[in-house]
Amino acid sequence: MRIVVTGVPGVGKSTIMEGVAKRIDYRIVNFGDIMLEKAKEMGVRNRDEIRKLPVEKQRELQRIAGEYIGKMENVIVDTHMSIKTPSGFLPGLPEWVLRSLKPSMLVLVEADPKSIMARRSRDSSRYRDTDSANDIDTHQSLNRYFAASCAMITGATVVIVRNEEGKVNEAVDTLLGMIKNG
Ligand code: ATP
Ligand code: AMP
Ligand code: MG
Repeated sequence: MRIVVTGVPGVGKSTIMEGVAKRIDYRIVNFGDIMLEKAKEMGVRNRDEIRKLPVEKQRELQRIAGEYIGKMENVIVDTHMSIKTPSGFLPGLPEWVLRSLKPSMLVLVEADPKSIMARRSRDSSRYRDTDSANDIDTHQSLNRYFAASCAMITGATVVIVRNEEGKVNEAVDTLLGMIKNG
């Protein structure tokens, strides 16, 4: 299985991945980590600056990361369905990235927009955008459309996992259950 885990910034993907990593024999790779390695050569100082780069640069980094991760087996990829850039929503998994990643399952991690706002503001380790609950709601809805497009290209299943406030373990259990069934 090749699994791609997505969700808006601050929804809790990487937190869920920590729980998953302890209980499954899959390699967990953060797509942004791979992009950041190369982005540093372009003068980027932290991961939250990547989405402010010119979109052509972001696409280049995305292609490199996709090709690199595509060579790995039994992998769970922590990434994004779409990235909110200053020039619009950039697909996280355009056709050329999907061809490299070859996902069999696409996971959308979702939560209540107000909870996501609070998670972003509590997490001082990051420089996330200060979106309104309405903005986050729009981003989550758009991500479902992007997921449907990706599923049509790849034949991958789409799984929605709720990450309710204070209930990371439940989200981990749901995801592990889906992976083990698959
Ligand atoms: P990004 O896409 O920006 O990397 P992410 O989806 O990986 O974001 P995390 O870094 O995992 O998000 O989580 C953001 C913050 O929310 C962290 O401080 C984390 O501890 C907190 N958090 C995650 N899940 C929950 C939850 N279920 N309830 C409360 N807080 C949570
Ligand atoms: P993250 O820690 O998941 O937020 O990853 C850091 C940054 O990498 C994100 O904020 C995006 O700018 C970028 N990124 C991650 N995955 C993708 C992707 N699939 N396509 C384009 N950019 C991505
Ligand atoms: Mg993360």
